[in-house]
Amino acid sequence: MAAAGETPPAPRLQRLRSSSLSHESLWGSPEVWPAREEARARVLVLNTGGTIGMAGSECDGGLAPQANKLVEALKKMPMLHDAEYAKATKFYDSCALPESTLVLPLSKRKKRVIYSIVEYSPLLDSCNMTTDDWAKIAKDLETYYEQYDGFVILHGTDTMAYTAAALSFMCENLGKTIVLTGAQVPIYELRNDGRSNLLGALLIAGLFVIPEVCLYFHHKLYRGNRVTKVDTGSFDAFSSPNLPPLANAEVDIKIDWGIVWRATTTKKFKVHTDMNRNVGLLRIFPGITATTVRAFLQHPMEGIVLETYGCGNAPNNRPDLLEELRQATERNVVILNCTQCLRGSVAPTYATGQDLAHVGVISGGDMTPEASLAKLSYVLAQSQLTWKEKKQMLCDNLRGEMSSMFTGNQSSLSNSIFIKVMTKFISLNCKEELGALIPSLACAAAKTGDMDALKAIEEVGGNLNCEDYDGRTPLHVASSEGHVHLTEYLLKSGASVYGKDRYGATPLMNAIEFRHMEVIQLLRKTGAHLSKEELENAGTKLCLLASKGDVDGLMAWHLAGVDMEHADYSGRTPLQVSLPNKHLKKFLIKR
Ligand code: ASP
Repeated sequence: MAAAGETPPAPRLQRLRSSSLSHESLWGSPEVWPAREEARARVLVLNTGGTIGMAGSECDGGLAPQANKLVEALKKMPMLHDAEYAKATKFYDSCALPESTLVLPLSKRKKRVIYSIVEYSPLLDSCNMTTDDWAKIAKDLETYYEQYDGFVILHGTDTMAYTAAALSFMCENLGKTIVLTGAQVPIYELRNDGRSNLLGALLIAGLFVIPEVCLYFHHKLYRGNRVTKVDTGSFDAFSSPNLPPLANAEVDIKIDWGIVWRATTTKKFKVHTDMNRNVGLLRIFPGITATTVRAFLQHPMEGIVLETYGCGNAPNNRPDLLEELRQATERNVVILNCTQCLRGSVAPTYATGQDLAHVGVISGGDMTPEASLAKLSYVLAQSQLTWKEKKQMLCDNLRGEMSSMFTGNQSSLSNSIFIKVMTKFISLNCKEELGALIPSLACAAAKTGDMDALKAIEEVGGNLNCEDYDGRTPLHVASSEGHVHLTEYLLKSGASVYGKDRYGATPLMNAIEFRHMEVIQLLRKTGAHLSKEELENAGTKLCLLASKGDVDGLMAWHLAGVDMEHADYSGRTPLQVSLPNKHLKKFLIKR
């Protein structure tokens, strides 16, 4: 028995110690064993520049980005790098980019966030960014997508809202967390916001699956396409006027899971890097001339965001202006109407607003000008679509950039009849308590394959990506049970293929374990993949299956994308250890 205050060895280690295998060949030297038992998350940081890594002063030319400085500085900051742990373990072993890999101190959730930094060259003040820089970031996200659990993008604050909005559209079928952050004061200065912004962004990207392009600043996580920079002198520099934060990082990090946006698809993640540059922002002001509007709308302009007064109004006593707008929409120039007000939306309240709609101007609902511009640029680059389809796409809610009241209804847990009836029925005195039952109800429905029950839960706004007490989601359960249709339904309802339960298992690992071939294929199609660590351990699993002649088991791993030549810890391949079974050998040789 372990003495008081001493941690008893984990059961897995006890088993290994009593086996005949060489411990060291499997685990390295004994002092690293406990570390290997910790859950780890890998985060990739793309450092594009911005104030967070700047130095300089007004008298020597102003703040400018400093190359090759950030990683070394972070290594000396205990809250951002656990040097002792780094020294004692080869924590960076399975990282795609080990050279610049750091590790956070152990989080409250008992997880290590290991992060690698890629520094762009040149580092940019974000005012110098163009659509090509967005494309570079998007391509890097695609390249490293399968190798990391989450992503952080360091970026200047001046155009961060534009980049966040653009990336939200460019990242299609996103299943992992992407967080943009930066600072108002460089991280090298005594009082700065860079340290806590970076720490918060790393923890969120490493510990939670929030499949959105987000922006983290001053203890709040926002949806990236809902923010705007509102303050030059405060650490609280961003506002999300029409959507509450996705998370608040206070004593605990509290995620508002009910508003997290999810791709409802069985398609894989991909990026769309082609953006239309013939777009612009035009702000209406009293006395604007028709000549200005004509000049702005002339060829090659293909779409503009018209920033209008109040709830989408422009002068309707100016036939010359309306005529310019009408002629433009007749030439298929898209005009998207957004309000100049910080909060609120375009609505057909006034005649001055309705007259804009009559000349072909489309309502942008409650989108920010940044999000509207990015959406225009993304939609107008979809060369496979007709003009009508593009116009429809602009009105659709693609990534949660506009409130649902402008595109259709969304139910919410808090006002549903179901909850009210259930609340009365189970005699609970508050709705939140019933909300807490949803994970268990949804997992039970997934276990029995009860699609109707799942639909009922979803109809009342229950989150089908919820986790039970063991971190298992309905998708984990459906994948373990092999319910193909239910799995597909969950995926199309926004369930994440990247959720890990408390044992570190993903739905894909569950489907492999229980050999549900169709489910494996479906999850793979949606972008599920094994982690680098799982792949490293696959050789031993394959050899065990081959030595037992278990073709089904091997087939499950094969469908999950694992190469049958993976060697075990002693360097033997499945073929070398397989039984003298003709079918088995044939299977292994063919793959
Ligand atoms: N001009 C800087 C930039 O956008 C401002 C900042 O990072 O806050 O890169």
